[in-house]
Amino acid sequence: MSQYIKGNTGDWEIVIGLEVHAQITTQSKLFSGASTTFGAEPNQNVAFVDAGMPGMLPVINEKAIEQAVRTGLALGAQINLRSVFDRKNYFYPDLPQGYQISQFLDPIVGKGEILLDMPDGSVKKVGVTRIHIEQDAGKSLHEYNPKFSYIDLNRAGVALMEVVSEPDMRSADEAAAYLKKMRSIVRYIGSCDGDMDKGSMRCDANVSVRKVGGPLGTRCEIKNVNSVRFLHKAIEFEAMRQVEIIESGGVIDQETRLFDSTKGETRTMRSKEDAHDYRYFPDPDLLPLEITQEYVDAIKASLPELPDERKNRYISKFGLSPYDAGVIVGEKEYAAYYEELTKNADPKLAANWMTSELFGRLNKIGADIENSPISAAAFAELLALIGNDTISGKIAKDVLDKMFESGKSAKAIVEEEGLQQVTDMGAIEKIIDEVIAANQNKVAEYKSGKDKLFGFFVGQTLKASGGKANPAAVNDLLKAKLS
Ligand code: ADP
Ligand code: MG
Repeated sequence: MSQYIKGNTGDWEIVIGLEVHAQITTQSKLFSGASTTFGAEPNQNVAFVDAGMPGMLPVINEKAIEQAVRTGLALGAQINLRSVFDRKNYFYPDLPQGYQISQFLDPIVGKGEILLDMPDGSVKKVGVTRIHIEQDAGKSLHEYNPKFSYIDLNRAGVALMEVVSEPDMRSADEAAAYLKKMRSIVRYIGSCDGDMDKGSMRCDANVSVRKVGGPLGTRCEIKNVNSVRFLHKAIEFEAMRQVEIIESGGVIDQETRLFDSTKGETRTMRSKEDAHDYRYFPDPDLLPLEITQEYVDAIKASLPELPDERKNRYISKFGLSPYDAGVIVGEKEYAAYYEELTKNADPKLAANWMTSELFGRLNKIGADIENSPISAAAFAELLALIGNDTISGKIAKDVLDKMFESGKSAKAIVEEEGLQQVTDMGAIEKIIDEVIAANQNKVAEYKSGKDKLFGFFVGQTLKASGGKANPAAVNDLLKAKLS
């Protein structure tokens, strides 16, 4: 499938670089002891530093540093043992200091990379340029009173990491896969909760278009996109808009745009500031941050198994397809459930049943895996019954439905309803004899060379057994009887 945009003047390629802002999971803010708890009453979690009171001194929260280093290591990135905090100066009502403390020339994390698991099973590599640490701003609330704006500073000063990518993505699909993968990684290592609904993770999408293989075009930056679906839509819209402008003889202005999710379009927010507009300079209240290699090594040693490592293990050890493995490791809750399953069930059977039968049913009742009515242990019990031939796959699907309805265990349902697979050869033979007796003319046809009818006899036998006869045994016995 070509991802190019077909224009009147030929094919256009989309070029995308993402800046992901991720709220760092810490109990307190980046430079103050105020709490980071979400959903508190407005202005409850505000220390004097966060309110920009004169003469207050920021004190760095070591946990935030550790989390940024963890994230850098999880992206295989260069960790800079010396980094510098700078003031990025701008005026905004939700920024009481009049500047944001950020990192500019010397960020804590340098170049890394991230692997995208594409739906066709392929893997695409995208460069990470840097990760820097910075303060979040507060929130302006305009909806309470038509004449006033209110300011809530609970979020002001909360630690953020900004992960900047290289302009390596070439389609909305790749950008969506990037955001999903980033979310998955930070959630595995616990450096960000990845909750896009609460704004813990949001991204700016830089989009340009160019003739295939040509020089980079001028980019527009779409600010604060807060879902994977919106990111996809915003990029598709924006790329089309740019192609239309260029093809009708216009030029792209480098600007900051907003995505309107109800209209599905992007529109101008402001023309783009350049770095010199912010008058970056090292914050005189903060010394350069120096960490040791031993500190970094200790963090590295404490990292859990990451999504890519886990995916490779599932492929090489369990024989899962890259696609299934990618789906299961994609959400840490899926992976945790699957890990539980594989303690007691065949890994391949478990992957198939989890991604098709379980996900399908969860989807139907609108439940996530965390609140699945079927626990991993209960599901593993069902899988074990398939694995040891107590029930067929077909019967197992009915049992799973009943487990969803009644909350009963697989074993209880199978026993109560007598669903055990019939492997007793005598019993199966009896059924086969009846099927043969009732279909004498078909038997004659079969014997005169109509081989296809074998399937008919298998079907009739299984049906007569209520789906309970072991199919392999039915096959063997039928072959013997009909020859
Ligand atoms: P700024 O702060 O001005 O947004 P950054 O360097 O932080 O600048 O981020 C620039 C982002 O834009 C990066 O993700 C980069 O990959 C992306 N980018 C740069 N040039 C282009 C381009 N021509 N088309 C699309 N994205 C681009
Ligand atoms: Mg930017």
